[in-house]
Amino acid sequence: MERVLAGDIGAHEGREIRLLGWVHTRRDHGKLIFIDFRDRSGLCQAVTFSGEAEAFATMNTVRPEWVIEITGVVNKRPEKLVNKDIASGQWEVGVKTVRVINEAETLPIAVDTDGKEIGEEHRLKYRYLDLRRARLQKNLRNRHKVISLIRQYLTDKSFVEIETPIISKSTPEGARDYLVPSRLEKGSFYALPQSPQQYKQLLMVGGMERYFQIARCFRDEDTRGDRQPEFTQLDIEMSFTTPEEVMQLLEELYTKIVKDLYPHKKIMQTPFPRLSYKEAMEKYGSDKPDLRKDKNDPDELAFAFVVDFPMFEWKEREKRWDAVHHPFTQPKVESVADFDEKFATDPGEILAMQYDFVLNGYEIGGGSIRIHDPKLLSRVFEVMGNSKEEIQDKFGHILTAFQYGVPPHGGVAPGIDRLMMILENEPNIREVIAFPKTGDGRDIMMSAPSKVRPEQLRELGVKIDD
Ligand code: ASP
Repeated sequence: MERVLAGDIGAHEGREIRLLGWVHTRRDHGKLIFIDFRDRSGLCQAVTFSGEAEAFATMNTVRPEWVIEITGVVNKRPEKLVNKDIASGQWEVGVKTVRVINEAETLPIAVDTDGKEIGEEHRLKYRYLDLRRARLQKNLRNRHKVISLIRQYLTDKSFVEIETPIISKSTPEGARDYLVPSRLEKGSFYALPQSPQQYKQLLMVGGMERYFQIARCFRDEDTRGDRQPEFTQLDIEMSFTTPEEVMQLLEELYTKIVKDLYPHKKIMQTPFPRLSYKEAMEKYGSDKPDLRKDKNDPDELAFAFVVDFPMFEWKEREKRWDAVHHPFTQPKVESVADFDEKFATDPGEILAMQYDFVLNGYEIGGGSIRIHDPKLLSRVFEVMGNSKEEIQDKFGHILTAFQYGVPPHGGVAPGIDRLMMILENEPNIREVIAFPKTGDGRDIMMSAPSKVRPEQLRELGVKIDD
């Protein structure tokens, strides 16, 4: 007999079916035993009569979260017994046979609630159980739908999804790198990418023209509610593009995500407003203004772009100018000479071809048109405090690449985690990530980070300084 999902039993009314899944809850009414049965599609009710002696005896022993197989007949429930809370609530399964596939110990956390009443450490320790709850099932399934839509949309627009390396070289996005020691070249390190920034630009040199990737990024920063040591970005790069083209692409894509997958949500304004950095700061005191009318309404979505950021900001601690976005961003200058003149006059006044993507008071992405003149790129590295040798050592590859016919290009990288958090009305991004780290960067389910064996360190030539 073919397997039927709990949510689909209505299509099989009057017929015998087979269910595979978990006991969600169990209620014993003497001559009747009810269970709420659960599988990936949700719940259905199964009822066993004492008349079905063998099934009844087995049903008497089963407990929540046991894995079982049921066969039985789908019956319509009388009107007053319809359960409006579940999609299959008009029907129930009259059980004929039950087979216990696997028993379960009493779970350390409840999974039939939304989980908000359980301490987060506990939930994360038993994440594989936590994921059984309807709220997280919904979040992960909807995340998949959003990502699938993005993939399809960009594929239809001639973008190519390309994977870029994870063990690589440090790339300057302004955070601390995660380092990976090399065994074959002791004393040398790979860095996990803070973003695929340089690779995606090199793909433009490589003639790909339209790239995207659902990319994992790694930044060794102190974690916060909407930050994780590793997070996911929709990374995009395009050749021969303009800021307006990039913004329009995002606008169309994000409008489609909301219209197709969250039709009950209301986009406050289309086209998404474009504010200059100056205007945003003066009017809202923030470069990621919350433009919702009613900030308590979770179904209002106020997308906006903030443009015309300053190119540089002064870092008092390091006593140097740093790029506000990153050094690959095109400053609004005519030439290297024009850049030098403007930098000599007032570095803080130079504007960048940068655009930030904002939603409900969160920065959900940022991007820029890139410098494609290797001379200007060198100058930018220089004024940020890099010596000629450092520039060669850190960025020689990209400067060399740019000598062989680089197309003008630009891109953007909206975060997937924050977007999902907002779309799902969740308080933090951990609720939309399958296996997140705690606030202090630990995976308490796997116990990571953890000590490694001394010979592993020896092989790497690494000594722990205690
Ligand atoms: N690499 C940038 C970031 O991760 C985004 C971009 O400029 O495309 O913020």
